[in-house]
Amino acid sequence: MSLSHGGRSAFERLRARLGEGSHACEECGFVDDASEWEAATSGATVEYRRECPSCGTEHVRRYRL
Ligand SMILES: [Zn+2]
Repeated sequence: MSLSHGGRSAFERLRARLGEGSHACEECGFVDDASEWEAATSGATVEYRRECPSCGTEHVRRYRL
């Protein structure tokens, strides 16, 4: 799938979906409003990673493009 056609809006929709939820860590409950999801794509899926600055737990969200 090409990201040059319609891919950007798909990314932005996913990012908006991630941004809607609380950034509270599932492990320690630390709420972090500053950190951003780091996006990485491998063609058919996009992966968002975020690391809790308090306990270091890595949170991963995976979506199909
Ligand atoms: Zn944490």
